[in-house]
Amino acid sequence: MLVFKFGGTSVGSAERIQAVAEIVEAARARGVVVVLSAMSGVTNALIAGARSAAEGDERQSLAIQADLLARHLGVVEELLAAGAERDALREEIVARLDGYERLCRSIATLGELTLRGNDAVASLGEELSTRILAALLRARGTDARAVSATACVRTDSQHGAARPDMAETRRLVNRHVRPLVEGGVVPVVTGYIGADARGVVTTLGRGGSDYSAAILGTALDAEEVWIWTDVNGILTADPRLVPEARTLTVLSYHEAEELAYFGASVLHPKTVAPLAAQGIPLRIANSLCPEQPGTLILPEPDPERERRPAIISTQGLCLVGVVGQGDGWSLLLASRALRALAEAGLDVLMFSQSFSERSLNVVLHREEREHAIHVLEREFANERALGIVARIEAQAEVATVSVVGMPNGNSAPTARAYAALGALGVRVVSIGQAASEYSVSLVIPEGEVARAVPFLHRELGL
Ligand code: ASP
Ligand code: MG
Repeated sequence: MLVFKFGGTSVGSAERIQAVAEIVEAARARGVVVVLSAMSGVTNALIAGARSAAEGDERQSLAIQADLLARHLGVVEELLAAGAERDALREEIVARLDGYERLCRSIATLGELTLRGNDAVASLGEELSTRILAALLRARGTDARAVSATACVRTDSQHGAARPDMAETRRLVNRHVRPLVEGGVVPVVTGYIGADARGVVTTLGRGGSDYSAAILGTALDAEEVWIWTDVNGILTADPRLVPEARTLTVLSYHEAEELAYFGASVLHPKTVAPLAAQGIPLRIANSLCPEQPGTLILPEPDPERERRPAIISTQGLCLVGVVGQGDGWSLLLASRALRALAEAGLDVLMFSQSFSERSLNVVLHREEREHAIHVLEREFANERALGIVARIEAQAEVATVSVVGMPNGNSAPTARAYAALGALGVRVVSIGQAASEYSVSLVIPEGEVARAVPFLHRELGL
């Protein structure tokens, strides 16, 4: 049995969803369980609409709802011929997005978006994409069924970062998913989500569909788990920035995990550990070029194989600062800021706190900037009035560029990376050294990424 996970861009349009159906059909004889993300951009849009509602802007959330409805119905129109199957699917999509509208209205009434409410809205994208793919497979003659992970991935109640109860999940998956595969049906399971013991929907964290695939793969004792993405596996750099970037063809679990920690867009960092515990191989493949070998992650790869460091760049980030004033700045303020952000479900990628500058800087996804500022303004309303906190401000638009070395591989790529950026004249805004000496993360202005990454790739001899 194989578990195939397809990410947001792999199901981002009617054309891409067709390509996914072909990949699934080609492997079907081996027994395939599909795990899907929402269509690209949908989870962000759902969350943005709910936040607008919480801030009293119901107009905006209705506009988002209308967009999502048009986008999904448009895809259905393109993929399915008129008929009962298409009508049923349209109805389901309309009903789910009506539900979204009702949720937004109640969020607006409460004037507050809780983490639980956030999970309720954020989980909808996967409920839609899985139904579309399952219907398409059926229309193409492959028996398939959409399965909500709320029925088979049991988690705790930590909304926004729920942890699976593996024993219970294994029981549920073997009861609800395995029999489908054994009966020749392709289950199309929602990534990213689960439900707690009371049946309340939870999410595993942004980008969590990879993790869902690992959870299902281990629960089913799958032969292999495949993460289908839009590039040829894990590469020495983003091929959009460095066309000559090379695929890292074979990695150990440890190496893959290290890479994932530095760029969750490559692979969600929680994905590797459960697979490693059971020795299940993990492949990263390209749904645009299925014939490319991609990256294979194995329990015991050949120790003699060639190893190279990789450059992992994450764009679309921003820096937000909490700037103190006078001698009131303390570590407590920094910790309160981080706590408030975490409790609001915001993803802080890096942070630095400085006593000399009396400030805290956090790196966040850019689409979370306004929300983060809002959360921090609320947290420090008193300190602002007292003049202990001078301001909370959006600073530069940034990207992180991490050089992740391979233990026992090339020598000290991190020091060379730092020197290279200096030679190029790129300003390093902030720096984070990993616990291991092999890896380093540099925060640089977003505008510099396009020249910094290719330069680094050459300088490091990749
Ligand atoms: N759709 C979810 C997200 O955007 C999960 C995923 O794509 O992996 O975070
Ligand atoms: Mg992802």
